[in-house]
Amino acid sequence: TKFSDLKLDPKVLSAVAEAGYETPTPIQAGAIPPALEGRDVLGIAQTGTGKTASFVLPMITLLGRGRARARMPRSLVLCPTRELAAQVAENFDTYSKHTKLTKALLIGGVSFGEQDKLIDRGVDVLIATPGRLLDHFERGKLLLTGVQIMVVDEADRMLDMGFIPDIERIFELTPKLTRQTLFFSATMAPEIERITNTFLHSPVKIEV
Ligand code: AMP
Repeated sequence: TKFSDLKLDPKVLSAVAEAGYETPTPIQAGAIPPALEGRDVLGIAQTGTGKTASFVLPMITLLGRGRARARMPRSLVLCPTRELAAQVAENFDTYSKHTKLTKALLIGGVSFGEQDKLIDRGVDVLIATPGRLLDHFERGKLLLTGVQIMVVDEADRMLDMGFIPDIERIFELTPKLTRQTLFFSATMAPEIERITNTFLHSPVKIEV
């Protein structure tokens, strides 16, 4: 498989080519086609396998030309740590550079002011750690009822850090029937299995 065989937006393909990538990694080749078909995806993959692009590329393609609305992000990426969230945001910037899609990075240790401004203006993609995301929600600054695509990255680390109740709460705040979920974990602990059974709809499972 080559990237050009995948039905990605031409603007995404240009950005991938400019980044110097020709061949999708196994997690990318496995996850991108079902994600583009609107299926839920359960990816069992470690860091370093190219898993970030396996959700960022289809997400950008699926968001297409739709417009962001104030305080209602259209997609959400949840990461266990600030560092990982910042890396995902960098990847998003790289691959979305030929589009007009917008993002906000919601992580702790930064003042709310700038994050509030972006959310008020409306963003296509919110990249967040669970605690900070819920802080914004509790402050009444944010609605998750417009989320079409939800990504959970490194779920096993979320479990280690005690974030599973937050993740469940966030799932409950997004549209149950219309939401598409792309869920990644390095391992399938029983607690992770339970979450995927509860919140994913007939996921396509990719194990690399
Ligand atoms: P990740 O697993 O998402 O953290 O990615 C690990 C590294 O692989 C990153 O430095 C990416 O830039 C790189 N990478 C992602 N996709 C590809 C690809 N298709 N070919 C070569 N390198 C890639």
